[in-house]
Amino acid sequence: MDNIVSESLSVLPVKRKNGAYSLRLCVSQGQLTIGMLKNLTETMAEFNLTSLRATTGQRMNLEGIPEGKLDAVVASLGVGVTKAPPGMSVCTGGGICIYGKQETRDIADKVLDLVEENGPYPYKVKSGVSGCKMACGLSFVRDIGLVGGPKGWDVYFGGAATRNAGVGVQLGKNVTEDEALAMITKALGFYRESGRKRERPSGTVNRLGKEALLDFMK
Ligand code: SF4
Repeated sequence: MDNIVSESLSVLPVKRKNGAYSLRLCVSQGQLTIGMLKNLTETMAEFNLTSLRATTGQRMNLEGIPEGKLDAVVASLGVGVTKAPPGMSVCTGGGICIYGKQETRDIADKVLDLVEENGPYPYKVKSGVSGCKMACGLSFVRDIGLVGGPKGWDVYFGGAATRNAGVGVQLGKNVTEDEALAMITKALGFYRESGRKRERPSGTVNRLGKEALLDFMK
């Protein structure tokens, strides 16, 4: 099942300053299998590529691909070039981490589905899911943030880790998974209806005020 790269990868070429390309490997939840790694390392050896670098967004960049070889590298990996899915940072969660209060992987997939189904949006929507308040999934500073606690999920919307960094507005505390997903769906509606072009959710919330978001959520 997991012996080929294409099962959970989409790729996006990114042009670099030196004219070469990086192939962004949009790995699902940052997880690489033996089969993926084998395929990647064989491709790297065949095309003499020496740099595979983890990104801050739990993806991988295969660097240094000459433009003329881009198609051949993509073919060797057995993947299709597509638009990258929305960004998602997921911590290891309660099934693995000794500090975790909630499992993160399933709900992260559901959040990603919600984001894709409810678009298009004025600009990017990135999410962070963390199994406890340590927030290794960067939940407090993502457009959508979920933080697991012993009694359920805390839900945040409109956080940012960019120039105007700030914690998102808390929409719910100790809510169930279904309640959290419903809140996220509604908050995405707020952003879709009120956001300006190329304005991230944090910009919309800051411009209109967090009360506007909270009123919309009622
Ligand atoms: S946020 Fe909590 S559960 Fe997730 S990896 Fe960090 S410490 Fe573990």
